[in-house]
Amino acid sequence: REGRRPLIAGNWKMHLTHLEAIGLVQKLAFSLKPAELEAAEVVVLPPFTALRSVQTLVTGDKLDIGFGAQDLSAADSGAYTGEVSGGMLAALACQYVTVGHSERRALHGEGDDVVAAKVRAALKHGITPVLCVGEGLDVRRAGTHVPHCTAQLDAALEGLDAGQLAGLVVAYEPVWAIGTGEVATPEDAQEVCGALRARLAERFGSDTADTLRILYGGSVKAANTAGILAGPDVDGALVGGASLDADEFAAICRTA
Ligand code: PEP
Repeated sequence: REGRRPLIAGNWKMHLTHLEAIGLVQKLAFSLKPAELEAAEVVVLPPFTALRSVQTLVTGDKLDIGFGAQDLSAADSGAYTGEVSGGMLAALACQYVTVGHSERRALHGEGDDVVAAKVRAALKHGITPVLCVGEGLDVRRAGTHVPHCTAQLDAALEGLDAGQLAGLVVAYEPVWAIGTGEVATPEDAQEVCGALRARLAERFGSDTADTLRILYGGSVKAANTAGILAGPDVDGALVGGASLDADEFAAICRTA
C-alpha cells in the first residue's frame, strides 16, 4: 500500500442531530492522538443537517478530521425538491461524498446511470466521490461477484479519463455484509479490492490505479479491522454502525 494513506470514513447514515454530531466529533478528536490522525485519514459523513455544525467545529478548532456528505444531486440547481447540490456541499467545504451506496441503490432506485451522473457532479464541484460498489447475496452465491463489481465500477466511471478522477475513492461494500454483523473475510475483501484496482489500471493506467484508495465496508468493527486492512489492495474502511460510537470508531482508526 505504498504511498496510499489509509482512509477510515464513518457513514453515520440517518443518525444524530447536529448537536449529537458535535459531541461525537469532539469525542473523536479528544480520543485520537495527532500521530494517529496523521497515520490514517479520518473522515465523518454526517446527515446534511449536521454538516454545517461539523464544518464549524473542525475548522474553528483546527481538528484533523475530514467530513463529507452521504449523497448529492446529479443536478446543479433547479426544481428538485428535497435535493442538495454538489455546489452547496462544496460551499460547506465537504471533501467527500458517498455515491452509489447500496441503500441508495436499493431504497431509492438509483441505477448505474444515476450513480454515474452523481460521480460527475461531485467531481465537477471538486468533491471526492466515495464510489460504492458491491454484490448482493444472490450474486455472491453464484460466484459472479468480481465481474458484478467491476461492471458497477465501469458504469459509474463511463466516459471519464484519468485526469478527471482527482483522488476518487472506491468502496467495496458487499450488500450481505452491510449492517448484518457478517463481515467479509480478509481474503474476500482483498479479492474484490484487488480486482477493482486491476480494472482501474486497465482503464486509467497503473500509475493512476496505484494512487487511488479502495476501501472495504460491511460490518467493520475494531476487532476485525486489522485482518481486513491486511490485504495489500485494501486501503481503509467505510464504517457504518460502528462509526456512531466514538470509542469503537477511534479504535478502528487507531488500528489503521
Ligand atoms: C455502510 O453503511 O456503508 C456500512 C458499511 O455499514 P455497517 O458498517 O453498519 O455494515
